[in-house]
Amino acid sequence: MDKRTPTQLYVVPTPIGNLEDITIRALRILKEVDFILAEDTRNTGHLLKHYGIEKKLVPHHLFNEHKTIENIVERLRDGASCALVSDAGTPAISDPGYLLVRACILAGLRVECLPGPTAFVPALVNSGIASDHFVFEGFLPHKKGRHTRLTTLADEEKTMIFYESPHRLVKALSQFAEYFGAERHACVSRELTKIFEENVRGSLAELIAYFEKKTVKGEIVIVIAGKD
Ligand code: SAM
Repeated sequence: MDKRTPTQLYVVPTPIGNLEDITIRALRILKEVDFILAEDTRNTGHLLKHYGIEKKLVPHHLFNEHKTIENIVERLRDGASCALVSDAGTPAISDPGYLLVRACILAGLRVECLPGPTAFVPALVNSGIASDHFVFEGFLPHKKGRHTRLTTLADEEKTMIFYESPHRLVKALSQFAEYFGAERHACVSRELTKIFEENVRGSLAELIAYFEKKTVKGEIVIVIAGKD
């Protein structure tokens, strides 16, 4: 496909905290498309209102995506264009999106993902840990498969990136220390781009000691050095 073929599906990253982190192109696309697929229409409604954009919002989330994809693809085939957004960051990165992108590609539609905010890139760069090679692990499985994943990752030589919720942070850090060694270097990035942004760097043992004493709030990315 060349650039003259019109795009039917735009994947549009949105801010992960600071509302200024949205590109001029993203705002133009959100204004131009026929409708916007939103993970949470209320949340996206606030963003659109902030930028004075009025557009039809259609819910598209983990719980309905299997049922709605066929209908969306049909509408796009009939000539409509749409933008897919998630609550924060880039759709399809630990968020719904992959299934729709795949369905559109299989249907011969043109898909374009705009570059933009995602939490793991600033966390990786802020960490000061090697960023030339890394693995993005997202959320670890909570129960089944967690032990197997951690055992495999114990031998990983590339920098590892995890998403974690605040109330599980200390437990996750303790498990990383158990499987990777307490001296392994890591960084916890909290509330990136927001007023209370914090990047805490140190060994896993130091990070556990620091966060054990606090009530941890906000959104979190953990970056861990690979095995030496
Ligand atoms: N699609 C998003 C992206 O591109 O990064 C990720 C969505 S995932 C459902 C939400 C997780 O991303 C949070 O639990 C947290 O781990 C991470 N995250 C999102 N915003 C963040 C922020 N401002 N600071 C730190 N982590 C963040």
